[in-house]
Amino acid sequence: LEVKGLTKIYSLGSIFSRIKITAVEDVNFEVMQPEIFTLAGESGCGKTTTAKIILGFEEQTSGMVFYRGKPINELRKKDKIQMLREIQAVFQNPFSTFNPLRTVDSYFYETLLNLKIVSSKKEAEKKIEEKLAAVGISFEEFTQRYPNEFSGGQLQRLSIARALLTDPSLIVADEPVSMVDASLRMSIVNLFKDLKEKYSVSVIYITHDLTTAYYVSDRIAIMFRGNIVEMGPAEEVLSNPKHPYTQLLRESVPEPDPEKRWGTKVVLADTEHEEYLRIGCKFAGRCPSAMEKCKKNNPPYFKVNDVLVKCFLYK
Ligand code: SF4
Repeated sequence: LEVKGLTKIYSLGSIFSRIKITAVEDVNFEVMQPEIFTLAGESGCGKTTTAKIILGFEEQTSGMVFYRGKPINELRKKDKIQMLREIQAVFQNPFSTFNPLRTVDSYFYETLLNLKIVSSKKEAEKKIEEKLAAVGISFEEFTQRYPNEFSGGQLQRLSIARALLTDPSLIVADEPVSMVDASLRMSIVNLFKDLKEKYSVSVIYITHDLTTAYYVSDRIAIMFRGNIVEMGPAEEVLSNPKHPYTQLLRESVPEPDPEKRWGTKVVLADTEHEEYLRIGCKFAGRCPSAMEKCKKNNPPYFKVNDVLVKCFLYK
């Protein structure tokens, strides 16, 4: 998957006072197969909007998304069923993924039949059993049960199994562990690693949780106010962060050992609204290293080893 110059501008407010918010601004990245690529950042950084555009739930204002070299919008029109098979989604809230009035298995049979993946119930059962095994759930405990009969962790596993029914090559997982009990998060994250190894599935993992991101990602892009501010191998970006925002983000990860407390002061100078509208570096209002030029000029990307950093400090 290749994302090129992706921009999404929302118009907000009434007809008398319209303001434009650039939720995603000139975002560029590639996702290889198989690879776990993470988009990380705080709420409002543009990671979910980027995912929605890739999945076709939102339309971009400008820029393109290519899948296997072809523009995804055109593919969607021409060969929708194939697209639905190849790119699947796993959402944040497993309790709203499934309708509480329907048994979970009905979704599985419906997906297989609607997308013409199987032609008989027997074939469907075989396929379902295989995908349930991949997420560690038995066919017996799954059959004829309603969503409220499963825990949050089990339901999230089931939504991953449902996504696997079409043998996708890419799964877009939007905050898949944020509503799952903390003790089960790593088991879900591990599942993505297994899927990559066993089925060559790539994952776009969207999260604000740097701990799971560090564990699961091959590469990571850190986003702030619609921009990717740092991107590279996850190990390098998270253990040796270069952009001042990535540094602050990493320092916000709770450290249980008081001797190791990071201690950098976070500056909160701008409102969220001011940050979106700033013409220079969006982070200038909070940045401990901000210079005069940062306020008026949008920094370009500088390459530091394998990492791209959008910051004048690396000129
Ligand atoms: Fe800070 Fe300037 Fe770098 Fe922005 S460009 S992160 S304000 S030093």
